[in-house]
Amino acid sequence: MSEAAAARTNLLGLEKPELEAFVGALGNKPFRARQLMSWLYKRAEGDFAAMTDLARDFRAQLNDVAEVRTPEIVSRHDSADGTRKWLLRADSAQAFEMLDCAFCSTAQQGFNRNLTTAEIVGQVWLANKELGFEPGGERRITNVVLMGMGEPLANFRNVVPAIRILLDDLGFDISRRRVTLSTSGLVPLMYKLAEEVNCALAVSLHAPDDALRNELVPINRKHPIAELLEACWHYIDEQNGRSVTFEYVMLDGVNDQIEHARALARMFKGRPAKLNLIPFNPFPGTSYRRSPMPVITGFRDELIQRGVLATIRRTRGDDIDAACGQLAGRVNDRTRIRLGEKLAGAMAS
Ligand code: SAH
Repeated sequence: MSEAAAARTNLLGLEKPELEAFVGALGNKPFRARQLMSWLYKRAEGDFAAMTDLARDFRAQLNDVAEVRTPEIVSRHDSADGTRKWLLRADSAQAFEMLDCAFCSTAQQGFNRNLTTAEIVGQVWLANKELGFEPGGERRITNVVLMGMGEPLANFRNVVPAIRILLDDLGFDISRRRVTLSTSGLVPLMYKLAEEVNCALAVSLHAPDDALRNELVPINRKHPIAELLEACWHYIDEQNGRSVTFEYVMLDGVNDQIEHARALARMFKGRPAKLNLIPFNPFPGTSYRRSPMPVITGFRDELIQRGVLATIRRTRGDDIDAACGQLAGRVNDRTRIRLGEKLAGAMAS
């Protein structure tokens, strides 16, 4: 990569005020930022040369210092049920951190690095185009969930601007109830999130008591359930939100007994909460099993009977390993090697 290319600013990473500052620094009026956003998000145009209502000089300037770059598609997988999944590549920088939920395939792969704002927005931008968006045509992306590989709140600095671009009426203009951030429960950052953006919140609960949650979601040892719930209710108050969605992965013989459902019902009765029961997606090397379907429906019925809104998440893309972390887990030898090193390191220490 040439030096000039390395220094280019990816416009997909800039919120409106930042884009205004960027075009301002190039000697242009702030309204140029609006025009640019309109090309980028309303017309899905990534080629400056095609932005015909911008002055030729300005377009030439943009070509020198800016770019519209999405992550690169490595492979595309289409499920019989209509689910489509892309394996994307960013660059290969790395870091060191992991959250370690016991049942999560991604956590078993270790951590490479955080995505940038442009890489988060770029995924939506890419999907929108791949799904055949036409300028002036129907919306292609109506819902976004930040719950893929990793922990969105651990990347607060990049995730918050990305959410703002998704919500901005000059950006993707997605409804605030249709952009959902899912967290394992980084409590202090949940309070900070409440101050910074207005989107829907999902929380990975997975157990009705601290003893079990400590085991399944280790962050619970730092921020136990009572503290987590306080942060949830605070978020709803601050945001005038309707409810928090609590994710609960159904693990055979672990957290799927009727007593667990009753404990959850005591916890949530009269609260602005929805429970989303997730059939566990197995992956190589795990000892957990998915609860049988009759157990899952029985669990849901028990909750509903006790006045708690509960649904079962429809599992999609099973035939293409589209569940969280499965695809990358299969192809990403590089991270597997790193995890091996990490385990070796942990055993040595
Ligand atoms: N770290 C964030 C977001 C990533 S996980 C969080 O914990 O919320 C997104 C959701 O998928 C979470 O509810 C997570 O617990 C769930 N999940 C992870 N591994 C799973 C598996 N193997 N089967 C089913 N759901 C899983």
